Amino acid sequence: MTHSFPPINETNDYDPNSLTVDKARELIHRYLTPVDGYEEIAIYDALHRVTAEHILAPHHVPNHNNSAMDGYAFNSRELTTPTIELTVIGSVYAGHPFTQSIAPGEAVRIMTGAVIPDGVDTVIMQEQVAREGDTIRFENKQIKVGQNIRLAGEDIQQGAVAVKKGQVITPAHMGLVASLGIATIKVHRQLKVAFFSTGDELCSVGEALKEGQIYDSNRYSLKGLLTSLHVECKDFGVVRDNPNALKQVFHEASLWADVIVSSGGVSVGDADFIKALMAELGQVVFWKIAMKPGRPLAYGKINQSHFFGLPGNPVAVMVTFYQFVQHALQVLAGQETTTELPQVRYRLLEPIKKTPGRMEFQRGIVLKDSNGEWCVKATGNQSSGVLSSMTQANCFIVLPQECGSLNKGDFVEVELFNGIL
Ligand code: AMP
Ligand code: MG
Repeated sequence: MTHSFPPINETNDYDPNSLTVDKARELIHRYLTPVDGYEEIAIYDALHRVTAEHILAPHHVPNHNNSAMDGYAFNSRELTTPTIELTVIGSVYAGHPFTQSIAPGEAVRIMTGAVIPDGVDTVIMQEQVAREGDTIRFENKQIKVGQNIRLAGEDIQQGAVAVKKGQVITPAHMGLVASLGIATIKVHRQLKVAFFSTGDELCSVGEALKEGQIYDSNRYSLKGLLTSLHVECKDFGVVRDNPNALKQVFHEASLWADVIVSSGGVSVGDADFIKALMAELGQVVFWKIAMKPGRPLAYGKINQSHFFGLPGNPVAVMVTFYQFVQHALQVLAGQETTTELPQVRYRLLEPIKKTPGRMEFQRGIVLKDSNGEWCVKATGNQSSGVLSSMTQANCFIVLPQECGSLNKGDFVEVELFNGIL
């Protein structure tokens, strides 16, 4: 078996019970190289795809000087008297260039987007003009030379990088690329992500619960998260706590996937086989992280696929996905500008309990207090099994490892959900 991971000894320096969140992120980042494979696709269908090369502007945008207003175009040489009076010799519309020459004392009526004709350099908006028949009159002091003209290339210069390599295509990029007349772009192929749940207690939705069983909710949360990230995902179902069954799924998933994500079975219980299987089939990079929720978290490789073994608790699945997997998938998919989650500071509306030693991602709600000031409070029960805390929250309250309990009114860092949750 060959695999591209560097030796893992370097991670042995860390106490496996106290690998910090930042260190874990850094370690994962070292192993990420964007997947090979590209496609040429229509920009019309390119939403959320990742550019594989810079897109250069073949011409200026806009490609000609044009009017920003409905009004009158004239030459600024006319601005010699306090009141200006000019004769309107015609109209110029968007898409219909004006070819007549414009003599001293003359102006043209011009519509928004129409090309500025030769011989004029300034546009006055129609609301500032008194018109009688073919004569317009307006005050000189209102005018700045060159006003109300959008200059060729003021958006993008010919030859400039209009969209960078490694950029996720947003609706704005679609419009921008279309404004360049470019129909197709080169993108990275979509990332393939396999996911499954592990646990003897799990019952799939649609089946009747037997005694002692719970419904498998993690696969649904993961399906949502992966769909939000626009990867190609494949559901490998529920796998029992049985090393042979797990081995079989790992094998099948690694034949297809760039990344495998599982939930459960990564603790140190008797039925937690994943770590041993990783060591057998690939590589274990780290195991325990000083965070809450989410202490047991496996990262490594299964054959050639990256593997994230997320904890089983439903909130821990979502938090660890958000804090580690999201970024990794973005890098693997070719993104060079990944979403750095902005953190904002808010005052606590209520006290928070915390023991120093682990970084916590409490589920929070940013809201206005009775004085109309923005503040934040935790959602209540922060147990890692309480998934309703995730549906109520609109942010994580990020509490550093060394921080202890906090009082009402203390400032905390808040990470607003970025749309994938
Ligand atoms: P584990 O990490 O496998 O020990 O699981 C930790 C906790 O999460 C246990 O209470 C499991 O029953 C629960 N759990 C594990 N997998 C799932 C799942 N797919 N859906 C809902 N709860 C789960
Ligand atoms: Mg389990």
